[in-house]
Parts: sequence; C-alpha cells; structure tokens
Amino acid sequence: MVSITSATVTDLRFPTSQTLDGSDAMNPDPDYSAAYLGLSTSNPDLTGCGFVFTIGRGNDIQAAAVAAVADRLVGRGLDELLEDPSAINRELTWDSQLRWLGPDKGVMHMAVGAVMNAVWDLRSKREGLPLWATLAHLEPAEVVALVDWTYLSDFLDPAQAREMLEERRSERDSRIAALRRDGLAAYNTSVGWLGYDDDKLDRLCRQALDDGFSTVKLKVGADLAEDHRRLGIARSAIGSDTALAIDANQRWSVPEAIAAIQHLAQFDLRWVEEPTHPDDVVGHATIAKAVHPVPIATGEHLANPTLAKQLLQLGGAQILQIDATRVAGVHDLVAMILLAAHAGVDVIPHAGGVGLCEAVQHFAFFNAASVAADPSRLTLEYVDHLHEHMSCPVEVTGGRYRLPTQPGAGTAFHPATAESFAYPEGAHWQE
Ligand SMILES: [Mg+2]
Repeated sequence: MVSITSATVTDLRFPTSQTLDGSDAMNPDPDYSAAYLGLSTSNPDLTGCGFVFTIGRGNDIQAAAVAAVADRLVGRGLDELLEDPSAINRELTWDSQLRWLGPDKGVMHMAVGAVMNAVWDLRSKREGLPLWATLAHLEPAEVVALVDWTYLSDFLDPAQAREMLEERRSERDSRIAALRRDGLAAYNTSVGWLGYDDDKLDRLCRQALDDGFSTVKLKVGADLAEDHRRLGIARSAIGSDTALAIDANQRWSVPEAIAAIQHLAQFDLRWVEEPTHPDDVVGHATIAKAVHPVPIATGEHLANPTLAKQLLQLGGAQILQIDATRVAGVHDLVAMILLAAHAGVDVIPHAGGVGLCEAVQHFAFFNAASVAADPSRLTLEYVDHLHEHMSCPVEVTGGRYRLPTQPGAGTAFHPATAESFAYPEGAHWQE
C-alpha cells in the first residue's frame, strides 16, 4: 500500500524587487515567494506538490502553517486520501483548533490550500492526467460532491449546481476539442507595472499587440493624474480594438474609487480590478452600481467561497478572479467557479507571481470545459516572469494559453530552483 511518508516545506524566495517587476500601488517592492510543499510517498516516483504564493516577508510564517497542516497526512494511505478528497478537505478546514485561526481565511486557510492542491497533484499524477482533465472527467454529481455547501446553499444548492453541470455535460467533449485546438485567451499584465517608465510602457504595449494579446492591463491607484497620463500612452499604443483593463490593488476608498473610475472610464475599460478593500462586499456593490456599465473585477484576495457568494449576491463583481493559492485549494475553487456560473459572472483567474499561471490554468481550463456559460468570453492573466523555475512551465503562444498535457496540478517547482532559491540557505541567497 502506497502511503505518505513525509511532508517537506521550503521557503522559496526570488529577488524580484530589484527590477520592480510586479510593482503596483499597494505592493511597491515584492520579492515573489512560495511556501512550497512536497508530499513524498512510499512510491519514489510519486510526489505531490503544492504551494502558497506570497511576496516575501512572512513566507516563513506561511511555510510553518503549511507544515502544521501537512504533517497530519504523514502515514496515511494514498488510496484513502485520493478516493474521497472531500473527506480530508472537510477534516482540515473544520479542525476546530486550527479553525480558530480563521475561520476559513488567511495563513491557515491558504496552508490547507497548499495541502489540498498537493493531494490533487498526487491524484492527477496517479491518473496520468493534467489536473484540468481529472476535474473535467468527473461526472456532475462528483463535481458537486467536492463542494462544502454549508454556507453556500442559500444562494446555490447542490441540486441546482448539478442541474447546471448536467446541462453543460453534452458540450464537454467538443469544448475540450476546441480548447486543445485554440487554447484559451491570455491577457497581458507585464506591460503596466507601476514602476515602469513611459518608454517601457509604450514599448511593452506595442510588443503585447505583436505577440497576439487582445487584452492588456495597467496598474493604477497611486495618483489619478498619473493614471490618466499612463492610460493615454497605453491607449494610443494599442489602438481602440485591444481591450484595456486596470488594477487598483485595493488602493481607493469607496468614494475615491467611484470618482476615479468615472474619470478613467473615457479610456474604454474592459474591467476595473480590486478598486477597494477585498472584504468590503457592500462597498464593491456600491461602486459597481455607481460606475455601471464599467465591470468591476475582484477575487485574488477573496478569502473564501462565502465572501464570493455575498459579492455575487449583491452584484459587487461582474468578473470573479479566482487565485489558485488564496483559498483552500481545489474544493474552494470549484465552489467559486460554480457560484460564478450560477450568477452569470465570468471567471477570469488571477495569475502572475511565481507558479500562479502554472497552477491556475488548470481551473481556467476546467471551467471552460465543464462549467462556463460561454468559453469564448474567458481569458486568463499572463505574466511572462519566472516560468523557468517551474517543472511544467505554461505554454503561451499567439496570446493564448495552450492546454496543459503533463500529469499533475502544475504546482511543482524545478528541483534546481527549490535548492538554490531556498531562503536563506540556498546558493542564490548565500552569494
Ligand atoms: Mg490584481
């Protein structure tokens, strides 16, 4: 019988603050990092990987939390874990002592996410399938059974969710064939980090167009006059046919957000992302109503599906941006995808950082194959940084993500990276 033999957690950090890659109005100098989990098994060819993305300081705290959760799986049989991952998800998220540290939010909840994503990485690797395919091959009732409906069923109940999935079921194979042929549209955030100068912004916008991207995104929120000026540069570089989104990274108060968006709407905004505090569900609804028809997008800092439910109930987001490592992994993410579909809201995942593109693409492809009302409206964030550190880097060509084919959840770092970027003992940090 194959069992989990050990859980190893590594504090990985990359010195991205040196080049201002990733800089925005809230996060001026991130060092992209990952609290990286490896679940070793008694089969030497089978290791489950998961991680939580952070931006530097505090990654050691996140790593300690991942270790505290992951240690509970050591010694367990793989068959038991993989046959009913909902049971282990329930056990970890409802642990009454750990739950005090949330509930369902923050460092502990994200730690559960790293563990659950590692469990699903094991399941997909054992099946020899990429995670998106493992999920897409589940029957509607099996997908519904992944979700903890306790706090969600007043908005969407399991029977309605199953009915929705069964309606889409007949299209699944043709959708997968289309995704295999055409991929999924990527949008480009690399053009508009706040720390980049005007020439670099102009050059990168034109480059994105040449590379086939149909949407680009700029960081805003530090200074409205500057935002206006930079959006002017971007709009003239990309012309009127390319979509332009902006991301305020939570910087505005509700009244500031309304005023800024009403002013910047002249640049024809595809969406406005994280206008204010991510927990302010009512504030998002107020903003969305005031700036209609400009779509409001949020989700990368949304702590759990219960918050997503409220946001959707109140009309606070017209786009839901799930993140692979913000919530408790696969089960929470499937819940959020179903809630969004029920609300008629598109899921346009958050990615970038390090490893986030590799991990979240599986949920984007699962959504496009099995859940979304209209896959042609979907897109997925792409940032062209640090992919060389991942074991199975994303393939983005012609402005589109290509369907992943390697088994697993995309959560494994390259072994050499895991060694040299370990903080502070890795060779890179010792130099
Ligand atoms: Mg963002």
